[in-house]
Amino acid sequence: MEFQPVGLTGAGFTTGRKPLLAGNWKMNLERKSALGLAAAVRERLGERDDCEVALFPPYVYLDEVARLLAGSRVKVGAQNCCDEASGAFTGEIAASMLVDVGCDWVILGHSERRHLYGEGDALVGAKTKAALAAGLAPIVCVGETLAQREAKSTEQVISAQLVAGLAGVERRSMERIVIAYEPVWAIGTGKTASPEQAGEVHAYLRGVLAGLYDREVAARTRILYGGSVKPDNIQALMAVKDVDGCLVGGASLKAETFLPLLEYR
Ligand code: PEP
Repeated sequence: MEFQPVGLTGAGFTTGRKPLLAGNWKMNLERKSALGLAAAVRERLGERDDCEVALFPPYVYLDEVARLLAGSRVKVGAQNCCDEASGAFTGEIAASMLVDVGCDWVILGHSERRHLYGEGDALVGAKTKAALAAGLAPIVCVGETLAQREAKSTEQVISAQLVAGLAGVERRSMERIVIAYEPVWAIGTGKTASPEQAGEVHAYLRGVLAGLYDREVAARTRILYGGSVKPDNIQALMAVKDVDGCLVGGASLKAETFLPLLEYR
């Protein structure tokens, strides 16, 4: 059943939502190019503290990238984690292991995990809790397919994903959670949601958060947009009131396309 969002007009809280730019490298790059790109991002960000930047390399490069970025303002995260803390789960990586190698963040419920590997809403929720328990900050992704958008079920789909992804998450843990709205039809396709489309969905998600928690949590939680973000469209997307940053795939793989995103202002 569709979750009833709560209107936020006049919520009146200081939101303090610092923009977050997250680069999801997916299964790309190799050791040398990963380290080179991380170093370039570190140099460009320097001591700037008007936005946060996090890079999400493949698992096997996390340790080295995190060492390279230690002490800098660029944070590191993983693209996924296991919902279990340890044990006989061949091929899986526990959230505590990610913390151990220097991760602060983890992406959960990315559409590629949902659609290519069959991860359902309940599993995403279990991973969120495992990540929080280990001390990670989860980016919980939600997004509708083109067919779902055309069937006008976007709100139903993303509210169900959000409610399940945050099931059992206490109010105080919401300080560490970031939501990413990533319409599946815009990921890696070159099609971007218009600022109006992104604005409508982000405002809706904030209403869902208000219903799940309260208006203060809704006003303080960062909601990123993801889906073919590029240097030529980031400014318009970041100008939308409820867009608090971007989760970037393809454009995060090269310094020429990622570094200009840091200058979106
Ligand atoms: C993503 O992987 O989360 C993503 C948004 O990819 P792209 O920017 O390539 O669409």
